[in-house]
Amino acid sequence: MALFSRVNLFIIIFKYLLTITPIFSYSNEVPNFLDLAKEPQVFEWMVDIRRKIHENPELGYEEFETSKLIRAKLDELGIPYKHPVAVTGVIGYIGTGLPPFVALRADMDALLMQELVEWEHKSKVPGKMHACGHDAHVSMLLGAAKILKDHEKYFNGTVVLVFQPAEEGAGGAKKILDAGVLENVSAIFGLHMHANLPLGEVASRSGPLFAGSGFFEAIISGKGGHAALPHHSIDPTLAASNVILSLQHIISRESDPLDPLVLSVTKFQGGAALNVIPDSVTIGGTFRAFSKKSFMQMRHRIEQVIIAQAGVYRCNATVSFLEEEKPLIPPTVNNGDLHDYFQSVAKSLLGADKVKGVELIMGSEDFALYQEVVPGYMFFLGMEDISVEHLAMAHSPYYKVNEDSLPYGAALHASLAVNYLAKLHQEVAAVEEKYHDEL
Ligand SMILES: [Zn+2]
Ligand SMILES: [Zn+2]
Repeated sequence: MALFSRVNLFIIIFKYLLTITPIFSYSNEVPNFLDLAKEPQVFEWMVDIRRKIHENPELGYEEFETSKLIRAKLDELGIPYKHPVAVTGVIGYIGTGLPPFVALRADMDALLMQELVEWEHKSKVPGKMHACGHDAHVSMLLGAAKILKDHEKYFNGTVVLVFQPAEEGAGGAKKILDAGVLENVSAIFGLHMHANLPLGEVASRSGPLFAGSGFFEAIISGKGGHAALPHHSIDPTLAASNVILSLQHIISRESDPLDPLVLSVTKFQGGAALNVIPDSVTIGGTFRAFSKKSFMQMRHRIEQVIIAQAGVYRCNATVSFLEEEKPLIPPTVNNGDLHDYFQSVAKSLLGADKVKGVELIMGSEDFALYQEVVPGYMFFLGMEDISVEHLAMAHSPYYKVNEDSLPYGAALHASLAVNYLAKLHQEVAAVEEKYHDEL
């Protein structure tokens, strides 16, 4: 009887232990990076970096000073790196230098707009501004690097730091991939500031997150002449007008109403004189979709409709998708397994109630290009404290970053990387054990 009781007691304790063991037991071994990131020597270091970058915003592929600052900080931390990669990009390495590899990405570029926020560290470059938070992204990745370098003993493998240029429409991610620096990477994580998500919270979703985006421009050519004698001309203005109407029918008549698509014609340039029919009209715009199939179908139909509809009016048309200057960005689609993994890590770091879902976003992110070749995951980092102020959305001249969010980004980067390396090792060990058992 006494023995039976002891066995029962053992079973009860064992069951209790099972219920309190987290899904990823390896997270227990890792220190609390959030507390570390809030320490003044990390927090103030990140704030200082972010302000320096904010004062000197640089556009895509011109991030020379930003790149120099990143390299100086990596030198200070004793972290080796590759440079130049993709013109101004920097790729840092922390850990053993051996597989497995996990990558963390921060974009570096600013926008062509004038800052209207009056503060001590306002942009010193007229007409340029960090209004998308990429200054904060760089400082948080450096913050993560600082923490990770101090805890190299906690991981077996390599964290690859990707400081990427030219996210804002110039395809910096493609140039990073073309440089071959991510070839052995098992997963890549990226974050973006979110102005209207509360400080301390994160949000994301499995599957599509950002839309794919493309641009087009078409020249519709007819035959110019006197406006009073239209029968002697071939009018490209009327042709272009009907082209625009027909393009809208791709969305309203050909696509699944439950599949969100956008096609906006934003440019219409024809003649100048009020009594002259012009030789040609140029139109252009952008298109967005959440699945690669819909995106490529839309691209195909835009070209077909413009040429065919111009032909109805006896005009010729040439269509360009401007892929040299503005590469097509596919939809950003988060890997389902990485979503589960992210949820687990973020919940254990921030608390389950701080990890939220998010609606689809019609904007685009060139992080999608990484996801085409490496399992990738992107999430939003909250920074709004409504007890202080409502923050302006990204790309507003009034955009501000709440710097209290920096430790959260740094800690999430560091935790995602370290736990993922541990997870990969556990999976390899499990496979080896199974193989051993089968022998
Ligand atoms: Zn942006
Ligand atoms: Zn951005």
